[in-house]
Amino acid sequence: MTMPKKSRPHSSSTAVVRTRIAPSPTGMPHIGTLYQALFDYAFAKRHKGSFLIRIEDTDQERSVQGAEEALYDAFDWLGIPEDESPRKGGSVGPYRQSERLDLYKQHALELVKKGHAYYCFCSKERLEEVRKQQSASKQVPMYDRHCLALVSEEIQTRLDAGEKPVIRMKIPQGEKIVCRDEVRGDIVFDSNLIDDQVLLKSDGFPTYHLAVVVDDHFMKISHIVRGEEWISSLPKHKLLYDWFGWDMPPMYHTPLLRNPDKSKMSKRHGHTSVVWYQEHGILPEALRNFLALLGWSHPKDAEIFSLDEFISSFDLKDLKAVGPIFDPAKLEWMNGEYIRMLPVEELAKRLQEYNEKFLKSVYSIELIHKTVPLVQTRLKTFQEYDGYCHFFIEAPRSFEKDLTAERDVIKSIAGVLEKFHEQEWQAEALGTRLQTYAEKQNIPFKSFFMTLRVALTGKKITPPLNESMEILGKEETLKRLK
Ligand code: GLU
Repeated sequence: MTMPKKSRPHSSSTAVVRTRIAPSPTGMPHIGTLYQALFDYAFAKRHKGSFLIRIEDTDQERSVQGAEEALYDAFDWLGIPEDESPRKGGSVGPYRQSERLDLYKQHALELVKKGHAYYCFCSKERLEEVRKQQSASKQVPMYDRHCLALVSEEIQTRLDAGEKPVIRMKIPQGEKIVCRDEVRGDIVFDSNLIDDQVLLKSDGFPTYHLAVVVDDHFMKISHIVRGEEWISSLPKHKLLYDWFGWDMPPMYHTPLLRNPDKSKMSKRHGHTSVVWYQEHGILPEALRNFLALLGWSHPKDAEIFSLDEFISSFDLKDLKAVGPIFDPAKLEWMNGEYIRMLPVEELAKRLQEYNEKFLKSVYSIELIHKTVPLVQTRLKTFQEYDGYCHFFIEAPRSFEKDLTAERDVIKSIAGVLEKFHEQEWQAEALGTRLQTYAEKQNIPFKSFFMTLRVALTGKKITPPLNESMEILGKEETLKRLK
């Protein structure tokens, strides 16, 4: 394929905007699916249109039970509700491809009738043999059009005898097929390099190519956003639209997400499953903001913006063609910013929900409330909460600093603290008294407070010490020191 200079980008049409995300239910929801869906959603909402979910379950062997529900959970969590889908219904359903088989068959047969498609009875073994020969002679592996020569009587006899053929596209030979990708401009394909794609499999299920074209047409999709891995399918889809006599909606191919080392974000490398972000304690609003910036820049270069702000300024024509780098460190930074923006009450509520779901440690809501002001400025993810706060629910079993030589200091601190009345046990008073004591004893503050910190928490880095002692209470603090 060759790519001439980008021509004028398509501008948003004034017709009703309908976008769709079309995931295959083959596993846990992928972060790339949410990334694309976010653009579909924002564009549809900006134009007061509809955003659809269509389940592309035509590969029955790869379909996984529970995957569809997991997808809905992921969309709900991210906060981008669809208008039409298998679970919500709508006027152009059914929204699962496995429930639309007749429609695909009817359209495959229409193409056979028009002479754009043909039956193929070749066995797997024969196809395998052809492929082997082609690769041995360094040819592009393609179907050799063996069945294109069959005459109609023979086809009928074999069909009557119960043979189960596939239906293939009859790709025209010697043509340049010009296709348009709204992100990259016009792309020219040499038809001689395109395989006679199977449209309908022998089990009556369509392939992606037939089903996607038929469905996008009948579901009245106005703008298609999909991953750049589908660019090579563009000429096949263009031909199908032409043969059916339908208009092809503008297509936007988003670049693949990449790891910071520029490699393709894959299961092995990055965290591709949406569940990972939930377990890690990433806020959905932070993930939304982060994903939006992977394909688009804010007109005023803002880094932090709300979903409403995104919707009001996003246009598909602004999508970028360069592979966006998925930098987990930036996501964590952004998540921290969102954690700091939450009102204390809300943060406590969310932390409690998170703890109940993902952490084994049990924190009472009272304890969470008390600790939130201490950790709000420090947390980058909810997962870190337990690391900062575990000492509140359990005395340390190991210590990041050897305290053997500090026994006397610790004892004398306990002596100072013992004199406090319960009512006096407050962060500020504790801090002042301990400072005076350290000064009198000529112990440098830094090592004094470090010793106390490690003795109480086991750690060198913790929430503020005086406030922590106040929360621990007099009895527990002295117990640990002793
Ligand atoms: N089912 C395809 C996928 O899982 C959809 C591609 C498209 O959006 O057309 O990627």
